Amino acid sequence: MSDSGQGAAKTRELADGVVQVFLPLPFKPTIVNVYLVRAGSTWTLVDTGMHTGDSRRTFQAALAEHGIAPTDVTRIVCTHHHIDHYGTSGPYRELTHAQVLLHPLEAEKAAATATATGENDAWNARLGIPAAPTEKRMPSPSLAFGTLYVPAIPDALLADGDEIPLGDGRRFEVVWTPGHTAGHCCLLLQPDGILFVGDHLLPKITPHVGVYPNGPENPLGDFLHSHEKVKRLDAHLVGPAHGGAYEDHRRRASQLIDFHRVRKMTMLDAIRRRPLTPYEVALEAFAIGTDNRFQVMAATSETLAHLELLRFEGRALKAEEHGVVRYRAR
Ligand SMILES: [Zn+2]
Repeated sequence: MSDSGQGAAKTRELADGVVQVFLPLPFKPTIVNVYLVRAGSTWTLVDTGMHTGDSRRTFQAALAEHGIAPTDVTRIVCTHHHIDHYGTSGPYRELTHAQVLLHPLEAEKAAATATATGENDAWNARLGIPAAPTEKRMPSPSLAFGTLYVPAIPDALLADGDEIPLGDGRRFEVVWTPGHTAGHCCLLLQPDGILFVGDHLLPKITPHVGVYPNGPENPLGDFLHSHEKVKRLDAHLVGPAHGGAYEDHRRRASQLIDFHRVRKMTMLDAIRRRPLTPYEVALEAFAIGTDNRFQVMAATSETLAHLELLRFEGRALKAEEHGVVRYRAR
């Protein structure tokens, strides 16, 4: 690996014609990595970053640094629909005329963002989340649509097991890894054996996995299953969307599986003492500030994912009374 010159490195060549590009984000984590993969005279881009001026300038500087004309990028493949991954897919398709590829479940979510509403009061009440004054409520994701989030309508859809020939002997194998989002995909670059994992398998942090209205019922079960799937792949280098490239995807996948097992047991202990709402369990399992609405919502939906997994495993029971759900250990 070698860092590019000229002050702060904005790109890093992981292998011949495999370039990691660090794009700025206006929130934490403060950087998203996108990847450029060369095949003959064309390039494929993995993920796009968020649609900010800062990110676009950094991306175009990275192209220039590696002598890539925008129209050399003929394919844009994205791991999932989140703003830091798919946010600039619309403008970059215009810039490059590339074909955009995404899993259909992600394409659906990207399009739905346009009409998304803010907090769902009935849903919150069901989980025991206290109501918040208007100014503290979570803003609707639709506010970013068309400004910070400009998603393309994909030209082609990804499916598990697809092989995408990139040219010059290189290809992507599509590995559907639901969990963080329902249509999240990892991409295995062959014959190099480099695995682009999006948010599925980050080296330092665990991605958010939560239950949401109209989403999968057991996303944590899906997420853990996806880790077992990734462990069966042969790869010698991992390219995550946040954090540095690393080796040994199996070890990291095992760590994440263990991490969630421990957290799940903490929650099971909590509901052994008495039936609790997901919000009450979240307060016991996470060090959240009840003033921080974002933390409250994220921790409660993540707690719900653990409680639902316990229920699917036959270890917890759910009961609903006056529109509020409570879980208890069996
Ligand atoms: Zn994400």
